[in-house]
Amino acid sequence: VLHPALEQAARLIREVPDFPEPGILFRDISPLLADGEAFAAVVTALGDGLEFDVVAGVEARGFLLGAAVAHARGTGVVGLRKPGKLPEVADRVDYQLEYGSASLELPAATISAGQRVLVVDDVLATGGTLRAACELLGRAGAKVVASSVVLELTALGGRDRVDSDVQALLAV
Ligand code: AMP
Repeated sequence: VLHPALEQAARLIREVPDFPEPGILFRDISPLLADGEAFAAVVTALGDGLEFDVVAGVEARGFLLGAAVAHARGTGVVGLRKPGKLPEVADRVDYQLEYGSASLELPAATISAGQRVLVVDDVLATGGTLRAACELLGRAGAKVVASSVVLELTALGGRDRVDSDVQALLAV
């Protein structure tokens, strides 16, 4: 049974056919983020019931969510970035997407060994991105307490590829 505020938030996710590639049904959370009540509902729910020392948000929508969760919980936030953005890179993981490949980079001097990290992103699809995020943080000696997303696309089975627990607020 969903909290009414999360049910309302779910209605604000738009389905955009054939983006960014033909055959992909893109779930756009932009209108959800733009709505104060819906944004508050998801920020409160992400990581709820979990203890962590820092939040890692995945570029780019994971930044918006992750920063808000971190501030609400009084932790710091780290942006896991696409290549070429960071002046100093601690480590990098390359991985495969449905179409082509991608990389995530960890900024220097952010994560210390032993820290408990909550990973935040908007959508769990194939799981490749969250798998890479967990690998990057694990190599830095952190413990990923969970990977937390607004929406899980269950048919893709992405959850099974992610090495951490997965917390999804909504599932389709
Ligand atoms: P994944 O396949 O789980 O690695 O997802 C790759 C990244 O692209 C994640 O950060 C998602 O935010 C995004 N993504 C993948 N598929 C979709 C989709 N159908 N709708 C919205 N975002 C998606």
